[in-house]
Amino acid sequence: MDTLNTTNSLLGLGALSLVYLMPKIKQRLELSRAKHRSLAGHSKMSKRIARMLPFYEYDEQRFFDSDGASAQVAQQRRAAFYELAWQLTCASPKSIAATSSAEAGISDLQFTSRYRVPFQYSQFVKKHLKSGSFLSSSGGVFLKDLDDQVFYDLTGSYGVNVLGNDFYKHCMQAAHDAAKDLGPVLGSYHPSVSRNVERLKRISGLDEVSFHMSGTEAVMQAVRLARYHSRKKYLVRFCGAYHGWWGDVQPGIGNPSTAYDTFTLAEMSEATLRVLATRKDIACVLVNPLQALHPNQNAPGDSALADSSRRANFDREAYGQWLKKLRAVCDKQGIALIFDEVFVGFRLASGGAQEYFGVQADLVTYGKTLGGGFPVGVLCGASRWMRRFDPQRPVDVCFARGTFNAHPYVMAAMDEFLSQLETENIAAIYSGLDERWNQRASQFNARMESEGLPVRVANLSSIWTVLYTEPSRYNWMFQYYLKAQGLALSWVGTGRVVFSLNYTQTDFEVVLERFVLAAKKMEQAGWWSAVSENNKQLTNKGIKRSILKEMLRVRFSALSYRVRGRSIAPSASTAESSSTV
Ligand code: PMP
Repeated sequence: MDTLNTTNSLLGLGALSLVYLMPKIKQRLELSRAKHRSLAGHSKMSKRIARMLPFYEYDEQRFFDSDGASAQVAQQRRAAFYELAWQLTCASPKSIAATSSAEAGISDLQFTSRYRVPFQYSQFVKKHLKSGSFLSSSGGVFLKDLDDQVFYDLTGSYGVNVLGNDFYKHCMQAAHDAAKDLGPVLGSYHPSVSRNVERLKRISGLDEVSFHMSGTEAVMQAVRLARYHSRKKYLVRFCGAYHGWWGDVQPGIGNPSTAYDTFTLAEMSEATLRVLATRKDIACVLVNPLQALHPNQNAPGDSALADSSRRANFDREAYGQWLKKLRAVCDKQGIALIFDEVFVGFRLASGGAQEYFGVQADLVTYGKTLGGGFPVGVLCGASRWMRRFDPQRPVDVCFARGTFNAHPYVMAAMDEFLSQLETENIAAIYSGLDERWNQRASQFNARMESEGLPVRVANLSSIWTVLYTEPSRYNWMFQYYLKAQGLALSWVGTGRVVFSLNYTQTDFEVVLERFVLAAKKMEQAGWWSAVSENNKQLTNKGIKRSILKEMLRVRFSALSYRVRGRSIAPSASTAESSSTV
């Protein structure tokens, strides 16, 4: 009898636990379904794998035939490589010397110069294809280095340069004139602050503004406020989206801590909408509209350009629909919808991504270009999200500070930037913007096609990414051929080409011609020769497989490594990771 009772009690307990656990299991499953299938969608796993990836590098021979190219093609590449190296070194001796002597003391420079190309080639490239990181002046669409070499500026200054460097020089000068009497005084406001607030309220369609020193901080504050007012803890960000380098928005590679309160979900996904519609613990959804160019993918950088599978394709209508669906579900659930417009604000349209896609967010972050050439982060929001205190609970506040917030010079430069936006000249730049840049991208692609070159672009207005149509392990070399043609790219290489809006059609066509020349040289040098020694056509899958094999071999072998009879030199370190932020 006793045994029967015990069994019944256990069964009852089991049934009760099941009733309690079932919804939780269902919720967990739904969350898993809403993750993107790629590694970028699985932060913890990608970090674990990054820690396991061993460092190794190619020796001189393998550097030129890592795709199994014939000895003849490898020799062709070798000759072209040293010729290019010589050309780049001779062109900018002072800039290169200044960079070499500064590098040991500038951590950022060490990092960026290491991650310009896939790590197996990186040391060899660094040794021979020297890059100068110092510049002396800018003007028009040009940059000049310490050796008076002139480059077309395609760097975009991390996205800051929307209206041309001269425009920002003007704002900075105007700021100096307007704020010099007040100088460095902080804590009280320069009169320009009031004008900025009024204009930003109008542009964002929101009620209040807070000033910060960087985009990262503006995003931190947006998320903190969303958590404070909603009394919920989870932040939803989308796979691949960059929102600065604060831990909670960077849960994957690059951040050694775990972001416990962040969900990284798939963008443009019904499964994600289901999670948002059913969970009760989500405070905010963070959107970076730049991802519209490549939803669910990391920022494209040439250090990840191991093959030619980089894809991008912007569909304005589809992305706008997605944002509208997000808006609806956030409204229903009381979730704060945050647009992070630090990169795209004032670039896609003078009213930013909200205007461009026709969706109103609850909180919007701006930065970069809005500082008129100075560092800045700005948060605009509806009053119900922005208040930093609770009138009913005097000690329960949401804290935010920052010594240099609302610095007089930054505010005065912003004032100039925003007042210029209202002039006819600037309004003319924004009119027909999409058509202009879409037409230029089509012209670029048509030209490349007619030349039979394996290069294309995809664009989100003036933000372009270079794509490669034929499988190759050497696309990352293209950035150096472009440099030799006088085109300056940022450290992520051909992944992100950012035009300022002052590029005329003539400027653009010169850039296009230089792209064509660079691509022809790249082709003539044999880097795009896609046939291996045993006459096998390269495929992206095949390239990936061969790299994976190399990695496994290095990982699991202790002493020396032979890949197809040739050596790969292992490094002492086995814990390198290749992050492309
Ligand atoms: N959000 C987005 C969308 C960004 O592009 C960036 C910078 N690239 C940031 C936030 C961070 O801004 P900052 O570098 O000024 O901290």
